[in-house]
Amino acid sequence: MGGVVGRAGIIGGGIGGLSTAIGLRAAGWDVTVYEQAARFGEVGAGITLAANALTALDLLGVGERVRASVIADRRALSRAQHGRVLVDAQVTDFFGPIAVLHRADLIAILAAAVPAECVRSGNRVIGVHADGRIETESDTVQYDLVVGADGVNSVVRQRLWPQAGPVRRTGMTAWRWVLDTPAPDPVGVILGSHAEFGVVPMAGERTYVFAAARPGISSLEHFADWPDPVAQVIAAADPSRIVTDELLEIPVPRRLWNDRVVLVGDAAHAMRPTLGQGAGMALEDAVTLAACAPDLAAYSAARRPRVARMSLLSRHGMRFSSPGSGLLAAVRDAALMATPNGVAIRMFRSNNKRTVHGWQPPTGPSSTADSNVLP
Ligand SMILES: Cc1cc2nc3c(=O)[nH]c(=O)nc-3n(C[C@H](O)[C@H](O)[C@H](O)COP(=O)(O)OP(=O)(O)OC[C@H]3O[C@@H](n4cnc5c(N)ncnc54)[C@H](O)[C@@H]3O)c2cc1C
Repeated sequence: MGGVVGRAGIIGGGIGGLSTAIGLRAAGWDVTVYEQAARFGEVGAGITLAANALTALDLLGVGERVRASVIADRRALSRAQHGRVLVDAQVTDFFGPIAVLHRADLIAILAAAVPAECVRSGNRVIGVHADGRIETESDTVQYDLVVGADGVNSVVRQRLWPQAGPVRRTGMTAWRWVLDTPAPDPVGVILGSHAEFGVVPMAGERTYVFAAARPGISSLEHFADWPDPVAQVIAAADPSRIVTDELLEIPVPRRLWNDRVVLVGDAAHAMRPTLGQGAGMALEDAVTLAACAPDLAAYSAARRPRVARMSLLSRHGMRFSSPGSGLLAAVRDAALMATPNGVAIRMFRSNNKRTVHGWQPPTGPSSTADSNVLP
């Protein structure tokens, strides 16, 4: 195949692996994705994709399809556990334009942009070597570049970054589900002392509901007396469609590459969902890697500071959204109520734009062969 930059083996066919496959192919790489599941899919619920994620998707050439799920702006409240309004805003004040879609739909959009012959599904990777070899039960293949996109419990990270430390269990529980009915008013978040709850409108007249709670709270009954529409959206949930996870995070390794191997997505920086940015970071990784490869040191230098910062903000942000003490929650609520609404909105907007959503994609030279999507 003329013009091929090199052969890349990508381990994992989630959001990180598929988006990296799209980016590397556009930059001229011959790509193989190994996915342990027999077919692409995503159990699960909704996902929110803010401006930075949408920019990355645009650069990968699939932004338009995802932007069809950008939700219409509407009033969104931030409230305290007992119902007091802390911030009265619009959805875009918190997030800018935001797509809210089912994860399965996002995976389908990404998978449709990766040719079937590039994918080895039903292939679990059992070994990976820094020199670029990938082992499955049936063979060992040598690659010029190996991408670990195998999620929080990454085999790649465990094998080649033994010093990176184990997955950290937070003891916190998260619940997520989708209702096939429009979001009832008011949408937004409710901040408690030991938990938080969110109701978000979704594209297609659906609703994305999420909740997270500190250790010791393991049932949605905790939210029984929370303000409307909490009881309504819990009662409307089909229990078989509620995804319940313990929140996990990892310390971000000091460098994201080792010889011919590089980490993207949760394998590199699984973080708490406080900012709703884990997948957004994976999409940014994909664009950056496509622009930098085969210079993996450049990729790591571009990504590591940003993902480490997001990871830290996500961890500390939970001290704000559910501080673990009634007193601290009361101080938070009083501070927010004492802040004029317009000031609070401006603060959220500029903070989000500066730290999270205003990502600048790489502008450096890429080894692009016939790309019409990447810089
Ligand atoms: C409660 C919660 C809410 C969230 N909400 C948001 C949100 O709103 N917005 C957002 O941007 N992010 C959100 N996130 C984060 C987001 O879900 C993750 O960051 C994202 O899914 C990571 O994608 P990934 O491809 O890196 O990993 P994964 O989705 O874990 O994919 C890894 C893939 O690798 C495969 N795999 C694993 N091991 C092997 C192996 N040995 N061989 C072959 N294949 C293998 C797996 O089967 C899987 O398909 C949330 C996370 C949580 C927990």
